[in-house]
Amino acid sequence: MSQDFSPDQKRYLEGFVSGVQAVRGSRGLPGFGGAPAFQTQPATNAPAAPSGPDAAHLEAMARFEREGRKLSPQEIAKREEHPFDAYARFKTMAKENRFAKQLDDFRIRFHGLFYVGPTQDAYMCRLRIHNGILRAWQFRGVADLARQYGGGYSHVTTRANLQVREIGAADGISFVEGLVDLGLTSKGAGADNIRNVTGTPTAGIDPQELVDTRPYAKEWHHHILNDRSLYGLPRKFNVAFDGAGRIAALEDTNDIGFQAVELRDGFGVAPGAWWRLALGGITGHKDFARDTGVIVPLDQAVRVADAIVRVFIRAGDRTERTRSRLKYLLDAWGFEKFLEAVEAELGAELTRAPAGAVAPRPESDRMAHIGVHPQRQAGHNWVGVALPLGRLTCEQMRALAAISEELGDGDIRLTVWQNLLISGVRDACVAEVERRVAEIGLATSASNVRAGLVACTGSRGCKFSAADTKGYADQIATHIDAAGLVVDTPINIHATGCHNSCAQHYIGDIGLIGARVPVGEDDTVEGFHLLVGGGFGGDASIARELVRDVKGEDCAAVVEKMLRGYLARRSGPEETFAA
Ligand code: SF4
Repeated sequence: MSQDFSPDQKRYLEGFVSGVQAVRGSRGLPGFGGAPAFQTQPATNAPAAPSGPDAAHLEAMARFEREGRKLSPQEIAKREEHPFDAYARFKTMAKENRFAKQLDDFRIRFHGLFYVGPTQDAYMCRLRIHNGILRAWQFRGVADLARQYGGGYSHVTTRANLQVREIGAADGISFVEGLVDLGLTSKGAGADNIRNVTGTPTAGIDPQELVDTRPYAKEWHHHILNDRSLYGLPRKFNVAFDGAGRIAALEDTNDIGFQAVELRDGFGVAPGAWWRLALGGITGHKDFARDTGVIVPLDQAVRVADAIVRVFIRAGDRTERTRSRLKYLLDAWGFEKFLEAVEAELGAELTRAPAGAVAPRPESDRMAHIGVHPQRQAGHNWVGVALPLGRLTCEQMRALAAISEELGDGDIRLTVWQNLLISGVRDACVAEVERRVAEIGLATSASNVRAGLVACTGSRGCKFSAADTKGYADQIATHIDAAGLVVDTPINIHATGCHNSCAQHYIGDIGLIGARVPVGEDDTVEGFHLLVGGGFGGDASIARELVRDVKGEDCAAVVEKMLRGYLARRSGPEETFAA
């Protein structure tokens, strides 16, 4: 049977073929992608081996079924109709003003749209912005789209990305296509895919960086985008590149963290800049990416990442969603077995280097994402703009784009700290940038508490949240500032609404996780459990629970008490909460 069918013809034929093939699903053959779905069964009636870009996924699913294990509903949904093949159907749904819900909500996430009901009867769209850097005209374009199709605002996320909310059923596809017109995309930004590629936000302008991460993040971004076989993994997958700059990229919270390191002479490997490979980060499950002892030549990062993902595709769990991230495969196999499989996939040995061969990473600065900082280019600066929990109105976005074009180098650099940098600002223009940022209700300075405040979407926009994370996080910072409490050391407060931990509560000096707090006999109110002592990078540490069931309205006072206690008892500003 020819494979040259239009998507509509394919759907028609798929229905026909599925009627004939009663074994659909149990063989793990048809339906997952265009190519395998339309292969003729051999005359022998023996199951045909899957082929085409979805083959490795189909084989992995079939293996679980042969072992008598039940695939998760999401796996079955992917097999029955690959989400990319559903695009025309989603366009039809948009014309009919219908949202994609349930398993179609899962499928449409492959296109970057999330149906966020019942909290909001709307789509949220998450973009992809490699290394978190986009041009000012693109930023303005996203503002225009958010005004036309969304709620008139956007959020900077903890993956240095943008999200736009309150997009109607009729407008989801128009929004996604509008992004493509801007040279942006949301493809693969949700569901079981490789997510937005993060990198050092000051790449190329940072006085201390070892590696400019931009070309590597860009290469990986386009590598993913143009290879269908890298979509539909057992679970979501995060990759980050840290260039050892002044602002932490949090690469150790990713499934793959490429860490720029300087190798010393005398250890049998060429000295100079390499990537050190860390694997298995997922802080919501209390694990940082762990050093593998492997180092990777800079120009081989994409090849190695590709091999890692392909091993994960073949061997990752597809039956239990809570245990299907890379960490669990590493736990089951151990690092050596996993790395052997990666070497087999690569057809080459990985290079190992002893820990002593690696020079210590230059220190990051926990306040370098806010305010004015000199670039490596003499006479130029980046200006970190503080955003209220990542939120920006369209008008603010347009004004920032204009500031960047008129007074900076035309780049807008998003950070994992839910804020942005305007780069390339000449010394003579700094005061004007600060004035114009203040004019639109934003700031280029912030107290240490506000600068380190991170919150997930919370109950205003996410059905999983037990509390209004952004609202209560803002209350905390306002309360601390109003109380005149000056914390003279960087402090990270991370508020997350549920165990998915989008705001990474386990790495905050103080972490909050949403909870329904019992009041009276059978009532509950919004609140949090509070944790303390998390950290990242050189201070990596998983926060431990300190107090449970704090009502949301009481959190600010409890945090104030914790901060006062820390300030009173510490031996000096260098002593962190973790200590
Ligand atoms: Fe939603 Fe939970 Fe993520 Fe917060 S952490 S945005 S509540 S899924």
